[in-house]
Amino acid sequence: MFYEVSARMLRQPIVTILGHVDHGKTSLLDKIRGSGVAAKEAGGITQAIGASILPLATLKAICGALLDALKLKLTIPGLLFIDTPGHAAFTNLRKRGGNLADIAVLVVDVNEGFMPQTLESIEILKNYKTPFVIAANKIDLVERWFSHKDKPLLQNLSEQDMTTIRAFETKMYALVGKLSELGLQSERFDRVEDYTKQVAIVPVSAKTGEGVPELLMVLTGLAQKFLEEHLKVDAHGQAKGTVLEVKEEKGLGKVLDVIIYDGTLKVNDTIVIGGLEKPIVTKVRALFVPAPLAEMREKKTKFQSVREVAAAMGVRISATGIEDVVAGVPLLGADANLEEAQQYVQKEIAEVLITTASEGVVIKADTLGSLEALSKLLQDKNISIKRASVGLIAKKDLSDAEANFEKNPLQTVILGFNIPLPAEAAGNVKVITSDVIYRLIEEYDAWQQEQKKRVELSKMEHLVRPAKIQLLSGYVFRQSNPAVVGIEVLAGTLKPNTPLMKKDGKEVAVVKKIQQEQESVSEAKKTSRVAIALPGVIVGRQLKEGDTLYSMIPEEHFRTYKEFKEYLTTDEKELLKEIAIIMREKNPVWGV
Ligand code: GDP
Repeated sequence: MFYEVSARMLRQPIVTILGHVDHGKTSLLDKIRGSGVAAKEAGGITQAIGASILPLATLKAICGALLDALKLKLTIPGLLFIDTPGHAAFTNLRKRGGNLADIAVLVVDVNEGFMPQTLESIEILKNYKTPFVIAANKIDLVERWFSHKDKPLLQNLSEQDMTTIRAFETKMYALVGKLSELGLQSERFDRVEDYTKQVAIVPVSAKTGEGVPELLMVLTGLAQKFLEEHLKVDAHGQAKGTVLEVKEEKGLGKVLDVIIYDGTLKVNDTIVIGGLEKPIVTKVRALFVPAPLAEMREKKTKFQSVREVAAAMGVRISATGIEDVVAGVPLLGADANLEEAQQYVQKEIAEVLITTASEGVVIKADTLGSLEALSKLLQDKNISIKRASVGLIAKKDLSDAEANFEKNPLQTVILGFNIPLPAEAAGNVKVITSDVIYRLIEEYDAWQQEQKKRVELSKMEHLVRPAKIQLLSGYVFRQSNPAVVGIEVLAGTLKPNTPLMKKDGKEVAVVKKIQQEQESVSEAKKTSRVAIALPGVIVGRQLKEGDTLYSMIPEEHFRTYKEFKEYLTTDEKELLKEIAIIMREKNPVWGV
């Protein structure tokens, strides 16, 4: 009984830092780690594989009175920061039904505001329902900011001069405004009334460290107050983790860098790892964590082997049979329930991979995590997916995309996130790759528009083109059989085979040939002077010099023009109106 109770304990919340490139993610993480290392009396930081852990005592040392002011009983053991800050979609931070990270810090350069990857990160966080705080970074660059590194942020802020405070407030409100456009309420951290409804914004400088204690205080408070239930783990229970990275290690071959977020993992444990085809079952051969700093210096070893690790921890696993593992897949300890564990991981994989849909685009990504992010954002945009898989673009992907051609040529597409273009593209398949999901979607949109336009333009090619011409005086080359006359195109474009009518709507003849300087031409544009051959008319009888003639546009053609009017010039639109007026003399609802 006693054992049961003590086995339920809180683990550190997993924190990830994300945001737009150059907004200061790496610098902020370095600053946080630096302040942790500096608090070495209190416990410093624990290096983990792919993560850094700030124990509670260290957080207390950094935050001082700030934490006391929360009036919370702090029971979380610390904060675990994922070491690879990045753009949200790059991260492999997934676990079933959500984000591996319990909480996120979205870094925004306060001077630059929201950028595409900021927006994309918010979309992904919303999708995963991951709570987050905003670090409004680079406050030291606000005009005439005077850094008081050692004063609490709010005091520091209130002691800036009025122009600086005003400039700062303007920038903060720009962030609040932008978030509100995205449907999110937000407030500066000290003014937040309800953390479950408002996103807290903490002004920081990753350069000077201003605001870092406040940021850590907000994270600690949030985790303690709202994530406690979520952080309860069974310290002796089944290990659960997510593969962050697959690496090649000298002497060990392939190794897995894994974040363990529940239970304990020991050497010799049987583990089940999600595979793209089927679950991989193997045994832990060895476990490694980074060596303590001192040991690193003495023995020049970067890692030390350990017998076991407990959540939350980042660990390197050496095992056989893991060649095909990709980042982002789940890992479970499975000594007791192998069958169940296999089903569990495969179900989790199946939630992300798509092989069954009959129509939609084909998508590829480098990891299971990024594939899930891509898939979610595409679904938000109502883009259907036929096949979603991890890895390089293969023949199967090309043939799956190609198979869409008959049914829906606009889906003859492969969207690849964070993967290279294939060496050769095939047939009708359009391959679009990018490392920004929004860009993929934008490019796909643009391509679709272009394709639609091509199809529509090809439809328009068969239509009678609108033209208005005038017979020039003194240029009757032949009276009849066929009549050959010099004309000027007053508006639109004249093409051979265009039926012509007079102003009263009566057809006079069909243009047979158009000649310019003795050469046949396929069209004559506005202001051109050309000779045209008109069979079946006699100049002087049905026609005379100076007459104005119009294309006699069939009613359906007119309707098609109306449908695709974005492809018409203003001149053509005006001319079509003029033609419609003529046609409506006889039939008032012509072309309506
Ligand atoms: P990341 O791409 O988001 O990881 O951004 P980095 O951390 O690499 O920062 C990008 C640039 O901004 C670097 O030149 C940093 O030195 C600079 N930088 C980051 N944070 C701050 C800050 O708070 N103040 C100032 N002045 N520069 C910063």
